[in-house]
Amino acid sequence: MTSSLSTLCLHCGMCCDGTLFTQVPLQPAEAQALRQKGLSLLVKEDGAVALPQRCAALEGLCCTVYEERPDACRRYRCQLFNALAEGEVSLEEAKGVVDTAHAKVDAVGSAESGRGSAMRQARVAAASLTLPPETREALAHAEVYLDKHFRGRFRRSGG
Ligand code: SF4
Ligand code: SF4
Repeated sequence: MTSSLSTLCLHCGMCCDGTLFTQVPLQPAEAQALRQKGLSLLVKEDGAVALPQRCAALEGLCCTVYEERPDACRRYRCQLFNALAEGEVSLEEAKGVVDTAHAKVDAVGSAESGRGSAMRQARVAAASLTLPPETREALAHAEVYLDKHFRGRFRRSGG
C-alpha cells in the first residue's frame, strides 16, 4: 500500500470498526490462526466462521494482525480507496470525505465501544421500530453517504 493510501485508511478505519460491515468471512485456516491469537469468532448456523466487527484486532484505527489479516481484508478496497488509488481524488479530498462520514456517523449516536457499535445499535433499533425519528433520519443520511462514497456496489461478502 502506498503511503497516501495507508494514510487514508489510518484516518478512517470504517471497514474494520463495524461502521460499514458486521462481519468478515474467514477460511478455516484463517479462523484457526485468529483463534490462536485469542480472537473470538462467530460460527454461523451453516458452520461458516466469520470475524465479527468491530474487529477485535483493531486498535485505535490500526490492524494489529496486518501481516496475517484474512484474505477478505486483504482484497477489500472501498470506493474512496479506489478513487484515491486512481488519482480521481487527492489525499486531502479523500480525508475530507472520511471526516464528513465520521461526522454523519457520530450524529447517529455515540457508544463507548465506538462508531461501529453506535451504528449497530441504531440499525437494530430501526429494524424493531424503536428508533426516535431524528436518529432514524441521521442513520438514513449516514447510510446514504456510506453507500455513495465507501460501499458503493462493492460489498465485502458477509455484510
Ligand atoms: S473504508 Fe476505505 S478508506 Fe476506510 S479504512 Fe477501509 S479501505 Fe481504507
Ligand atoms: S483483521 Fe485487520 S484488516 Fe481485517 S477487519 Fe480486523 S482490523 Fe480490519
